[in-house]
Amino acid sequence: MLRWNTDQADLRKGLERWGDALSADHIELDEQSVFPHDKWKVVRETGVLGLPFDEVYGGIGQSLLTTMYVLEGLGACNRDSGLSFSVTTSMCSTGVPLQKFGTAGQKERYLPGICSGGMIGAHAITEAEGGSDAMAMTTKAVRDGDDFVLSGSKVFVSNGPVADVMVVYARTHPDGGPLGTTAFLVDRNTPGLTVGSPVKKMGLRTSPLSELFLDEVRVHTSAVLGRTGGGLLVLDHVMKREILFSFIVNVGEMQHRLDRCVDYAKTRRSFGKAIGSYQGIANKIVDAKIQLETARKWLYDTGEKLEAGEDVTMDLAIAKLITSESNLATSLTAVQVFGGHGYMSEYGLEQDVRSAVGGTIYSGTNEIQYNRIASQLGLGK
Ligand SMILES: Cc1cc2nc3c(=O)[nH]c(=O)nc-3n(C[C@H](O)[C@H](O)[C@H](O)COP(=O)(O)OP(=O)(O)OC[C@H]3O[C@@H](n4cnc5c(N)ncnc54)[C@H](O)[C@@H]3O)c2cc1C
Repeated sequence: MLRWNTDQADLRKGLERWGDALSADHIELDEQSVFPHDKWKVVRETGVLGLPFDEVYGGIGQSLLTTMYVLEGLGACNRDSGLSFSVTTSMCSTGVPLQKFGTAGQKERYLPGICSGGMIGAHAITEAEGGSDAMAMTTKAVRDGDDFVLSGSKVFVSNGPVADVMVVYARTHPDGGPLGTTAFLVDRNTPGLTVGSPVKKMGLRTSPLSELFLDEVRVHTSAVLGRTGGGLLVLDHVMKREILFSFIVNVGEMQHRLDRCVDYAKTRRSFGKAIGSYQGIANKIVDAKIQLETARKWLYDTGEKLEAGEDVTMDLAIAKLITSESNLATSLTAVQVFGGHGYMSEYGLEQDVRSAVGGTIYSGTNEIQYNRIASQLGLGK
Protein backbone atom coordinates (compact mmCIF):
# COMPACT_ATOMS: atom_id res chain seq x y z
CA MET A 1 0.00 0.00 0.00
CA LEU A 2 1.25 3.48 -0.84
CA ARG A 3 2.20 5.85 1.95
CA TRP A 4 2.15 9.57 1.21
CA ASN A 5 4.86 11.88 2.55
CA THR A 6 4.31 15.31 4.06
CA ASP A 7 5.07 17.16 0.81
CA GLN A 8 2.39 15.17 -0.98
CA ALA A 9 -0.06 15.59 1.90
CA ASP A 10 0.60 19.36 2.01
CA LEU A 11 0.00 19.67 -1.72
CA ARG A 12 -3.36 17.92 -1.35
CA LYS A 13 -4.35 19.93 1.73
CA GLY A 14 -3.47 23.10 -0.17
CA LEU A 15 -5.95 22.15 -2.88
CA GLU A 16 -8.64 21.01 -0.47
CA ARG A 17 -8.70 24.48 1.09
CA TRP A 18 -10.44 25.63 -2.11
CA GLY A 19 -13.24 23.07 -1.73
CA ASP A 20 -16.00 25.50 -0.75
CA ALA A 21 -15.20 27.90 -3.58
CA LEU A 22 -15.08 25.07 -6.12
CA SER A 23 -18.32 23.55 -4.86
CA ALA A 24 -20.25 26.83 -4.66
CA ASP A 25 -23.75 26.76 -6.23
CA HIS A 26 -23.12 23.37 -7.81
CA ILE A 27 -26.77 22.32 -7.65
CA GLU A 28 -28.03 25.49 -9.35
CA LEU A 29 -25.24 25.43 -11.93
CA ASP A 30 -26.05 21.80 -12.72
CA GLU A 31 -29.69 22.77 -13.27
CA GLN A 32 -28.62 25.60 -15.56
CA SER A 33 -26.11 23.37 -17.40
CA VAL A 34 -23.57 26.16 -17.71
CA PHE A 35 -19.80 26.15 -17.56
CA PRO A 36 -18.85 28.13 -14.42
CA HIS A 37 -16.32 30.60 -15.83
CA ASP A 38 -15.94 32.27 -12.41
CA LYS A 39 -15.07 28.97 -10.79
CA TRP A 40 -12.57 28.20 -13.54
CA LYS A 41 -10.73 31.27 -12.18
CA VAL A 42 -10.67 29.49 -8.81
CA VAL A 43 -9.38 26.33 -10.50
CA ARG A 44 -6.59 28.42 -12.00
CA GLU A 45 -5.65 29.79 -8.59
CA THR A 46 -5.39 26.31 -7.08
CA GLY A 47 -2.60 25.35 -9.51
CA VAL A 48 -4.13 21.89 -9.98
CA LEU A 49 -3.98 22.12 -13.78
CA GLY A 50 -0.18 22.17 -13.80
CA LEU A 51 0.34 19.19 -11.48
CA PRO A 52 2.02 16.67 -13.82
CA PHE A 53 3.75 19.09 -16.17
CA ASP A 54 7.33 20.34 -16.38
CA GLU A 55 8.17 23.36 -14.24
CA VAL A 56 9.88 25.03 -17.18
CA TYR A 57 6.43 25.37 -18.81
CA GLY A 58 4.69 26.55 -15.64
CA GLY A 59 3.77 23.15 -14.25
CA ILE A 60 4.63 21.80 -10.82
CA GLY A 61 6.47 18.71 -12.01
CA GLN A 62 4.74 16.08 -9.90
CA SER A 63 4.90 12.34 -10.55
CA LEU A 64 1.95 10.36 -11.90
CA LEU A 65 1.15 8.97 -8.44
CA THR A 66 1.38 12.33 -6.67
CA THR A 67 -0.85 13.84 -9.35
CA MET A 68 -3.38 11.06 -8.74
CA TYR A 69 -3.24 11.59 -4.98
CA VAL A 70 -3.92 15.33 -5.30
CA LEU A 71 -6.67 14.72 -7.86
CA GLU A 72 -8.30 12.32 -5.40
CA GLY A 73 -8.33 15.36 -3.08
CA LEU A 74 -10.08 17.36 -5.81
CA GLY A 75 -12.86 14.76 -5.87
CA ALA A 76 -13.06 14.75 -2.08
CA CYS A 77 -13.37 18.52 -1.71
CA ASN A 78 -15.29 19.56 -4.84
CA ARG A 79 -18.99 18.78 -5.21
CA ASP A 80 -19.12 20.20 -8.75
CA SER A 81 -18.21 16.97 -10.57
CA GLY A 82 -18.64 18.62 -13.98
CA LEU A 83 -16.01 21.20 -13.09
CA SER A 84 -13.62 18.44 -11.96
CA PHE A 85 -14.29 16.62 -15.24
CA SER A 86 -13.37 19.73 -17.22
CA VAL A 87 -10.15 19.98 -15.21
CA THR A 88 -9.04 16.41 -15.97
CA THR A 89 -10.23 16.73 -19.59
CA SER A 90 -8.09 19.81 -20.23
CA MET A 91 -5.13 18.22 -18.48
CA CYS A 92 -5.36 14.81 -20.21
CA SER A 93 -6.61 15.72 -23.68
CA THR A 94 -3.97 18.30 -24.44
CA GLY A 95 -1.35 18.71 -21.69
CA VAL A 96 -0.56 15.01 -21.36
CA PRO A 97 0.15 14.35 -25.07
CA LEU A 98 2.01 17.66 -25.42
CA GLN A 99 4.31 16.76 -22.54
CA LYS A 100 5.13 13.36 -24.06
CA PHE A 101 5.04 13.99 -27.82
CA GLY A 102 5.17 17.78 -28.25
CA THR A 103 8.02 19.52 -30.03
CA ALA A 104 9.79 22.34 -28.16
CA GLY A 105 7.78 24.83 -30.23
CA GLN A 106 4.44 23.15 -29.47
CA LYS A 107 5.22 22.96 -25.77
CA GLU A 108 6.25 26.63 -25.63
CA ARG A 109 3.09 27.65 -27.44
CA TYR A 110 0.51 25.64 -25.50
CA LEU A 111 1.79 24.14 -22.25
CA PRO A 112 2.05 27.38 -20.20
CA GLY A 113 -1.61 28.10 -21.02
CA ILE A 114 -2.73 24.55 -20.24
CA CYS A 115 -0.79 24.62 -16.93
CA SER A 116 -2.21 27.98 -15.85
CA GLY A 117 -5.72 27.33 -17.17
CA GLY A 118 -5.47 30.43 -19.39
CA MET A 119 -6.06 27.94 -22.19
CA ILE A 120 -8.62 25.15 -22.03
CA GLY A 121 -7.94 21.92 -23.90
CA ALA A 122 -10.20 19.29 -25.45
CA HIS A 123 -9.84 16.28 -27.69
CA ALA A 124 -11.95 15.08 -30.58
CA ILE A 125 -11.90 11.36 -31.33
CA THR A 126 -15.49 10.11 -31.40
CA GLU A 127 -17.59 10.39 -34.56
CA ALA A 128 -21.33 10.03 -35.07
CA GLU A 129 -20.97 6.63 -36.77
CA GLY A 130 -19.42 5.10 -33.66
CA GLY A 131 -16.98 5.84 -30.90
CA SER A 132 -16.00 2.44 -29.53
CA ASP A 133 -14.32 1.54 -32.80
CA ALA A 134 -12.34 4.79 -32.74
CA MET A 135 -9.88 3.67 -35.39
CA ALA A 136 -12.73 3.43 -37.92
CA MET A 137 -12.87 7.24 -37.91
CA THR A 138 -13.50 8.90 -41.27
CA THR A 139 -12.45 12.49 -40.55
CA LYS A 140 -9.51 12.86 -42.90
CA ALA A 141 -6.39 14.96 -43.11
CA VAL A 142 -4.85 15.31 -46.57
CA ARG A 143 -1.33 16.60 -47.08
CA ASP A 144 -1.11 19.70 -49.28
CA GLY A 145 2.41 21.12 -49.49
CA ASP A 146 3.44 22.19 -45.99
CA ASP A 147 -0.11 21.88 -44.71
CA PHE A 148 -2.69 19.28 -43.86
CA VAL A 149 -6.34 19.90 -44.76
CA LEU A 150 -8.81 18.38 -42.27
CA SER A 151 -12.41 17.54 -43.21
CA GLY A 152 -15.11 15.72 -41.27
CA SER A 153 -16.96 16.02 -38.01
CA LYS A 154 -16.72 14.86 -34.41
CA VAL A 155 -19.24 14.40 -31.61
CA PHE A 156 -19.20 14.47 -27.80
CA VAL A 157 -16.19 16.75 -27.43
CA SER A 158 -15.94 17.56 -23.72
CA ASN A 159 -14.85 21.17 -23.11
CA GLY A 160 -15.54 21.78 -26.84
CA PRO A 161 -17.69 24.90 -26.27
CA VAL A 162 -15.01 26.55 -24.11
CA ALA A 163 -11.81 25.08 -25.56
CA ASP A 164 -9.01 27.24 -26.95
CA VAL A 165 -7.11 24.32 -28.45
CA MET A 166 -8.18 20.83 -29.44
CA VAL A 167 -6.33 17.68 -30.29
CA VAL A 168 -8.17 16.37 -33.32
CA TYR A 169 -7.55 12.79 -34.45
CA ALA A 170 -7.92 12.28 -38.19
CA ARG A 171 -7.19 9.70 -40.84
CA THR A 172 -4.03 10.45 -42.82
CA HIS A 173 -3.85 7.14 -44.66
CA PRO A 174 -7.03 5.64 -46.13
CA ASP A 175 -5.92 2.01 -45.73
CA GLY A 176 -3.50 2.38 -42.87
CA GLY A 177 -5.80 0.98 -40.17
CA PRO A 178 -4.57 2.04 -36.74
CA LEU A 179 -1.33 3.34 -38.29
CA GLY A 180 -3.31 5.58 -40.60
CA THR A 181 -4.42 8.11 -37.99
CA THR A 182 -2.68 11.24 -36.76
CA ALA A 183 -3.21 13.71 -33.90
CA PHE A 184 -3.30 17.42 -34.75
CA LEU A 185 -3.22 20.49 -32.53
CA VAL A 186 -5.97 22.77 -33.82
CA ASP A 187 -6.60 26.27 -32.48
CA ARG A 188 -10.22 27.19 -31.95
CA ASN A 189 -10.10 30.19 -34.28
CA THR A 190 -8.72 28.23 -37.25
CA PRO A 191 -10.78 29.04 -40.37
CA GLY A 192 -13.16 26.19 -41.28
CA LEU A 193 -13.49 24.92 -37.71
CA THR A 194 -16.98 25.25 -36.23
CA VAL A 195 -17.79 24.33 -32.66
CA GLY A 196 -21.40 23.26 -32.11
CA SER A 197 -23.63 24.53 -29.31
CA PRO A 198 -23.42 22.77 -25.95
CA VAL A 199 -25.35 19.49 -26.07
CA LYS A 200 -27.80 18.81 -23.24
CA LYS A 201 -26.81 15.77 -21.26
CA MET A 202 -27.72 13.58 -18.29
CA GLY A 203 -24.94 14.52 -15.87
CA LEU A 204 -21.62 16.37 -15.56
CA ARG A 205 -23.67 19.31 -16.76
CA THR A 206 -21.22 22.04 -15.82
CA SER A 207 -18.72 20.43 -18.19
CA PRO A 208 -19.93 21.52 -21.62
CA LEU A 209 -19.74 19.13 -24.59
CA SER A 210 -20.31 19.77 -28.28
CA GLU A 211 -19.95 18.64 -31.86
CA LEU A 212 -17.08 19.81 -34.01
CA PHE A 213 -17.25 20.45 -37.75
CA LEU A 214 -14.12 20.60 -39.87
CA ASP A 215 -14.62 22.13 -43.30
CA GLU A 216 -11.25 22.12 -45.03
CA VAL A 217 -9.42 23.22 -41.90
CA ARG A 218 -5.86 24.00 -42.95
CA VAL A 219 -3.08 23.46 -40.41
CA HIS A 220 0.69 23.53 -40.91
CA THR A 221 2.61 20.24 -40.65
CA SER A 222 4.06 21.64 -37.41
CA ALA A 223 0.59 21.04 -35.87
CA VAL A 224 1.12 17.27 -36.01
CA LEU A 225 1.39 15.97 -32.46
CA GLY A 226 3.76 13.02 -32.43
CA ARG A 227 4.39 11.47 -35.83
CA THR A 228 2.21 11.31 -38.93
CA GLY A 229 0.50 7.93 -38.60
CA GLY A 230 1.19 7.90 -34.86
CA GLY A 231 -2.32 8.84 -33.71
CA LEU A 232 -2.97 5.53 -32.00
CA LEU A 233 0.27 5.81 -30.04
CA VAL A 234 -0.73 9.27 -28.82
CA LEU A 235 -4.26 8.13 -27.97
CA ASP A 236 -3.00 5.08 -26.07
CA HIS A 237 -0.70 7.26 -23.95
CA VAL A 238 -3.54 9.72 -23.30
CA MET A 239 -6.17 7.08 -22.44
CA LYS A 240 -3.96 5.46 -19.80
CA ARG A 241 -3.56 8.81 -17.99
CA GLU A 242 -7.19 9.78 -18.61
CA ILE A 243 -8.38 6.65 -16.81
CA LEU A 244 -5.99 7.14 -13.89
CA PHE A 245 -6.50 10.90 -13.52
CA SER A 246 -10.22 11.21 -14.10
CA PHE A 247 -11.32 8.09 -12.22
CA ILE A 248 -9.18 8.80 -9.16
CA VAL A 249 -11.31 11.98 -8.84
CA ASN A 250 -14.31 9.61 -8.54
CA VAL A 251 -12.55 7.84 -5.66
CA GLY A 252 -12.39 11.16 -3.79
CA GLU A 253 -16.06 11.71 -4.57
CA MET A 254 -16.90 8.23 -3.27
CA GLN A 255 -14.99 8.90 -0.04
CA HIS A 256 -16.94 12.10 0.54
CA ARG A 257 -20.22 10.31 -0.18
CA LEU A 258 -19.34 7.47 2.19
CA ASP A 259 -18.51 9.93 4.98
CA ARG A 260 -21.87 11.62 4.41
CA CYS A 261 -23.69 8.29 4.56
CA VAL A 262 -21.95 7.26 7.80
CA ASP A 263 -22.79 10.58 9.48
CA TYR A 264 -26.39 10.43 8.32
CA ALA A 265 -26.83 6.79 9.35
CA LYS A 266 -25.59 7.65 12.85
CA THR A 267 -27.92 10.62 13.32
CA ARG A 268 -31.08 9.86 11.35
CA ARG A 269 -33.49 7.93 13.61
CA SER A 270 -36.28 5.57 12.73
CA PHE A 271 -38.32 3.39 15.09
CA GLY A 272 -36.40 4.99 17.98
CA LYS A 273 -32.93 4.00 16.75
CA ALA A 274 -30.25 5.35 14.40
CA ILE A 275 -30.86 3.90 10.91
CA GLY A 276 -27.21 2.76 10.84
CA SER A 277 -28.03 0.27 13.59
CA TYR A 278 -30.18 -1.69 11.12
CA GLN A 279 -28.28 -4.20 9.03
CA GLY A 280 -30.22 -3.22 5.91
CA ILE A 281 -28.54 0.21 6.03
CA ALA A 282 -25.21 -0.76 7.64
CA ASN A 283 -24.52 -3.45 5.04
CA LYS A 284 -25.18 -1.04 2.19
CA ILE A 285 -22.64 1.35 3.68
CA VAL A 286 -20.14 -1.47 4.23
CA ASP A 287 -20.54 -2.47 0.59
CA ALA A 288 -19.85 1.16 -0.40
CA LYS A 289 -16.70 1.10 1.74
CA ILE A 290 -15.51 -2.12 0.04
CA GLN A 291 -16.29 -0.71 -3.43
CA LEU A 292 -14.40 2.50 -2.63
CA GLU A 293 -11.32 0.74 -1.26
CA THR A 294 -11.23 -1.74 -4.15
CA ALA A 295 -11.40 1.05 -6.72
CA ARG A 296 -8.74 3.07 -4.90
CA LYS A 297 -6.39 0.10 -4.69
CA TRP A 298 -6.81 -0.87 -8.34
CA LEU A 299 -6.15 2.65 -9.58
CA TYR A 300 -3.04 3.27 -7.47
CA ASP A 301 -1.66 -0.22 -8.12
CA THR A 302 -2.15 0.34 -11.85
CA GLY A 303 -0.49 3.77 -11.59
CA GLU A 304 2.48 2.19 -9.80
CA LYS A 305 2.83 -0.47 -12.47
CA LEU A 306 2.59 2.10 -15.24
CA GLU A 307 5.32 4.19 -13.61
CA ALA A 308 7.45 1.07 -13.36
CA GLY A 309 7.05 0.57 -17.12
CA GLU A 310 4.98 -2.60 -16.81
CA ASP A 311 2.18 -3.65 -19.16
CA VAL A 312 -1.09 -2.39 -17.65
CA THR A 313 -3.53 -3.38 -20.40
CA MET A 314 -5.52 -5.73 -18.18
CA ASP A 315 -5.08 -3.68 -14.98
CA LEU A 316 -6.35 -0.47 -16.57
CA ALA A 317 -9.46 -2.19 -17.92
CA ILE A 318 -10.19 -3.72 -14.50
CA ALA A 319 -9.49 -0.44 -12.69
CA LYS A 320 -11.77 1.52 -15.04
CA LEU A 321 -14.56 -1.04 -14.76
CA ILE A 322 -14.41 -1.33 -11.00
CA THR A 323 -14.20 2.41 -10.38
CA SER A 324 -17.00 3.46 -12.72
CA GLU A 325 -19.35 0.70 -11.55
CA SER A 326 -18.50 1.45 -7.90
CA ASN A 327 -19.07 5.16 -8.40
CA LEU A 328 -22.51 4.44 -9.84
CA ALA A 329 -23.37 1.82 -7.19
CA THR A 330 -22.29 4.00 -4.27
CA SER A 331 -24.17 7.02 -5.62
CA LEU A 332 -27.35 4.90 -5.70
CA THR A 333 -26.55 3.63 -2.20
CA ALA A 334 -26.29 7.20 -0.93
CA VAL A 335 -29.72 8.06 -2.36
CA GLN A 336 -31.18 4.99 -0.62
CA VAL A 337 -29.52 5.75 2.72
CA PHE A 338 -30.89 9.30 2.63
CA GLY A 339 -34.35 8.02 1.64
CA GLY A 340 -36.71 10.69 0.26
CA HIS A 341 -34.13 13.38 0.97
CA GLY A 342 -31.63 11.56 -1.24
CA TYR A 343 -34.07 11.73 -4.14
CA MET A 344 -34.45 15.51 -3.84
CA SER A 345 -32.06 17.66 -5.88
CA GLU A 346 -31.21 19.96 -2.97
CA TYR A 347 -29.23 17.15 -1.29
CA GLY A 348 -26.90 16.93 -4.28
CA LEU A 349 -27.02 13.13 -4.35
CA GLU A 350 -29.26 12.46 -7.37
CA GLN A 351 -26.83 14.63 -9.33
CA ASP A 352 -24.06 12.15 -8.42
CA VAL A 353 -26.07 9.26 -9.90
CA ARG A 354 -26.51 11.09 -13.21
CA SER A 355 -22.86 12.04 -13.40
CA ALA A 356 -21.63 8.57 -12.44
CA VAL A 357 -23.44 6.98 -15.40
CA GLY A 358 -21.12 8.92 -17.72
CA GLY A 359 -18.11 7.09 -16.31
CA THR A 360 -19.42 3.79 -17.61
CA ILE A 361 -19.32 5.24 -21.14
CA TYR A 362 -16.37 7.63 -21.60
CA SER A 363 -12.72 6.50 -21.71
CA GLY A 364 -13.86 3.28 -23.42
CA THR A 365 -17.27 1.88 -22.48
CA ASN A 366 -17.42 -0.81 -19.84
CA GLU A 367 -18.41 -3.37 -22.49
CA ILE A 368 -15.19 -2.54 -24.33
CA GLN A 369 -13.24 -2.99 -21.07
CA TYR A 370 -14.79 -6.46 -20.73
CA ASN A 371 -13.62 -7.21 -24.28
CA ARG A 372 -10.09 -6.10 -23.39
CA ILE A 373 -9.97 -8.34 -20.35
CA ALA A 374 -11.42 -11.27 -22.35
CA SER A 375 -8.84 -10.69 -25.05
CA GLN A 376 -6.01 -10.67 -22.47
CA LEU A 377 -7.36 -14.02 -21.26
CA GLY A 378 -7.14 -15.34 -24.80
CA LEU A 379 -10.91 -15.37 -25.26
CA GLY A 380 -12.99 -14.03 -28.13
CA LYS A 381 -10.47 -14.91 -30.81
C1 LIG B 1 -19.75 12.39 -20.68
C2 LIG B 1 -19.03 11.99 -21.93
C3 LIG B 1 -17.90 12.68 -22.31
C4 LIG B 1 -17.24 12.34 -23.49
N1 LIG B 1 -16.15 13.08 -23.89
C5 LIG B 1 -15.55 12.80 -25.06
C6 LIG B 1 -14.46 13.61 -25.55
O1 LIG B 1 -14.02 14.55 -24.88
N2 LIG B 1 -13.94 13.34 -26.77
C7 LIG B 1 -14.40 12.30 -27.53
O2 LIG B 1 -13.85 12.10 -28.62
N3 LIG B 1 -15.40 11.51 -27.10
C8 LIG B 1 -15.99 11.73 -25.90
N4 LIG B 1 -17.03 10.96 -25.46
C9 LIG B 1 -17.51 9.88 -26.31
C10 LIG B 1 -17.19 8.49 -25.79
O3 LIG B 1 -15.83 8.23 -25.88
C11 LIG B 1 -18.05 7.52 -26.60
O4 LIG B 1 -19.42 7.78 -26.29
C12 LIG B 1 -17.71 6.08 -26.32
O5 LIG B 1 -16.43 5.77 -26.81
C13 LIG B 1 -18.74 5.13 -26.97
O6 LIG B 1 -18.94 5.42 -28.31
P1 LIG B 1 -20.43 5.60 -28.87
O7 LIG B 1 -21.13 6.56 -27.98
O8 LIG B 1 -20.35 5.91 -30.30
O9 LIG B 1 -21.11 4.19 -28.65
P2 LIG B 1 -21.02 2.89 -29.65
O10 LIG B 1 -19.59 2.62 -29.96
O11 LIG B 1 -21.97 3.09 -30.77
O12 LIG B 1 -21.58 1.78 -28.68
C14 LIG B 1 -22.97 1.65 -28.36
C15 LIG B 1 -23.12 0.51 -27.35
O13 LIG B 1 -22.61 -0.71 -27.94
C16 LIG B 1 -21.57 -1.23 -27.14
N5 LIG B 1 -20.54 -1.81 -27.99
C17 LIG B 1 -19.93 -1.28 -29.07
N6 LIG B 1 -19.02 -2.10 -29.58
C18 LIG B 1 -19.03 -3.21 -28.79
C19 LIG B 1 -18.31 -4.43 -28.78
N7 LIG B 1 -17.34 -4.68 -29.66
N8 LIG B 1 -18.59 -5.33 -27.79
C20 LIG B 1 -19.55 -5.09 -26.87
N9 LIG B 1 -20.27 -3.95 -26.84
C21 LIG B 1 -20.01 -3.04 -27.79
C22 LIG B 1 -21.01 -0.06 -26.35
O14 LIG B 1 -20.38 -0.48 -25.15
C23 LIG B 1 -22.29 0.74 -26.09
O15 LIG B 1 -22.96 0.18 -24.99
C24 LIG B 1 -17.71 11.25 -24.28
C25 LIG B 1 -18.84 10.54 -23.87
C26 LIG B 1 -19.50 10.90 -22.71
C27 LIG B 1 -20.72 10.11 -22.30
